[in-house]
Amino acid sequence: MTDIDAQIQLGYQHHSRLSEFDRLVYPVVSRRSRGLSLGINMNPDKRCNFDCVYCQVEREGRLPPRAPDLTQLEQELRFWLERIAGEGFRGYPLRDIALAGDGEPSVVRELPAVLSLLRRLKQEFRLQGVRLVLFTNGSGLERADLVAEWDGFYAADGEVWFKLDYWDQASLEALNRTRLRCDRLLATLDRFAARYPVTLQSCFFNWGDIPFRVEDYAGYRDCVKERLKQGCRITKIQAYTLARQPTESAAKAWGDEEMRCLGAFLRQQLPVPLELYFERGEAAEN
Ligand code: SF4
Repeated sequence: MTDIDAQIQLGYQHHSRLSEFDRLVYPVVSRRSRGLSLGINMNPDKRCNFDCVYCQVEREGRLPPRAPDLTQLEQELRFWLERIAGEGFRGYPLRDIALAGDGEPSVVRELPAVLSLLRRLKQEFRLQGVRLVLFTNGSGLERADLVAEWDGFYAADGEVWFKLDYWDQASLEALNRTRLRCDRLLATLDRFAARYPVTLQSCFFNWGDIPFRVEDYAGYRDCVKERLKQGCRITKIQAYTLARQPTESAAKAWGDEEMRCLGAFLRQQLPVPLELYFERGEAAEN
């Protein structure tokens, strides 16, 4: 593990992951976390029920199905928490433990056990104020064995960060390339967020030579408005652009001006706090 420690490069411009060294837990400095985030790769086989055109997970060749090994996961979590729970790591305080990784966590069978483990470790290591963050496209949020977890998860400073880049079936199929149905995903979001607050995560990018036009996102704006009308509790929207090489080379990061223009448009039209993240800007703009 010490060798691994030496290989990690931390910093806002670095995106090294321990998953690249066959590890399930990896520390990263995250702009969105405003400090150190301890990431958990829930999908070591890199499977996902979305196939987003902007996905930045390297998926060359098919890996055999593989669930996260809970014994390995607990060992790795303990390794890091023993080192960073109080003091942080290389000057960065621990802000959150994030369930994310190289696929969709909410469809992984072991997720309820992992949520329970995190609650236990939070108590054991006295991680008051350290958030538990689940990155998800929402597809598995209403699984019977997960529904029982949400009250405890939120009571332990849990947050769900829900991916929403689409606004109708056509945009879902074009951007996220999934067989899942838009109306079902949005209905899940409506029901879940009526009970628990969520952060929306939305990726914006250029496609080939098509020029940027903020008006093209009227559908996205209307979709968020409809969620609010349905009673969704949306804590904030995190709008970001690409930071690494995406699956499809036609997807290109938006520039700072385009992101600021989008930010002005959404702030004017939506009564929800907005955070902007873009690669060429060092820090987030709120
Ligand atoms: S949901 Fe996430 S992991 Fe899955 S394809 Fe999209 S960006 Fe990649």
